[in-house]
Amino acid sequence: MSGTAGTVVGIDIGGTSVRAGVLDPSDPDCRILEIVAAPTPHTVPETEDTLAGLVDVLRERHSVRAVGLAVAGFVSTDRARVMFAPHLAWRHDPVPEQLSARIGLPVVMDHDVNSAAWAEYRHGAAAGSPVALLVALGTGIGAGLVVHGDIYRGAHGVAPELGHVVVVPGGRPCPCGKRGCWERYCSGTALADTARELAADPAFAGQPAMGGDTGAPITGAMVAAAAEAGHPVALAAFADLGRWLSVGLAMATDVLDPEVIVIGGGVVGAARHFLPDAVAGMLAGITGHGHRPAPRVEVARFGGLAGIIGGALLAADAVA
Ligand SMILES: [Zn+2]
Repeated sequence: MSGTAGTVVGIDIGGTSVRAGVLDPSDPDCRILEIVAAPTPHTVPETEDTLAGLVDVLRERHSVRAVGLAVAGFVSTDRARVMFAPHLAWRHDPVPEQLSARIGLPVVMDHDVNSAAWAEYRHGAAAGSPVALLVALGTGIGAGLVVHGDIYRGAHGVAPELGHVVVVPGGRPCPCGKRGCWERYCSGTALADTARELAADPAFAGQPAMGGDTGAPITGAMVAAAAEAGHPVALAAFADLGRWLSVGLAMATDVLDPEVIVIGGGVVGAARHFLPDAVAGMLAGITGHGHRPAPRVEVARFGGLAGIIGGALLAADAVA
């Protein structure tokens, strides 16, 4: 079997599941040779057991030389500790050191969106770009920035939190404690919220319910399915998301001047319903419009696997 000598493992640790994939870092297509998953545990010892167990399964069949963790949470600037992760058990835990001692392999760690941005920068839609911004539209907005070949983290490891930039003072409440954050208007969650608001608007009276007659609460996936069928409320909700995306991308472009903006996350599957208008709106909204180069906007290459791939590539870099 070719390609299994000197493979690396990337593990995407999210709020509901832990997914581990193995790949050959010399493969520019970053094909994942095997992937295994488990539910996210609720305690620190169980989490370590799960990670070690997934790596053990993969190294039965692959020659693994390093492991990269892509974590949905705040990682310390030196990437030695998980400071806080709302959906994970870790609080200031030296996760890479502990896991490395247990499995006998080098372990590196980064924020999941940084890992995804790294995957897109190395071999994806932002390959080789001098200044690349990833904006992932999912439950919220995840943002990652790669500047001249380095992941930009800010002074304390929390940048860039674009999703929590306030775009509507006093607007929709956000789990972060503020109101009117960009991600409350431009994410899968926002798409459902907007669709619910619009469905109650007299302008759309008489339209069928988006989820059929089940009475189930409207979800982002439901709105995407309804938009495919031409449902006016769903299309209006996407148009609204596109407007907010253009506002945020213009703001990000004015601050960061990226060469490329990569749009990822679950919502991007429905890109045709919002991305063309969002890009046009962004181009019209940036400072010096028409008199300066503007970023290109691309759809992410690696989709839901970007965290695993980026984690694996960062692990490969660490042992190169
Ligand atoms: Zn917020």
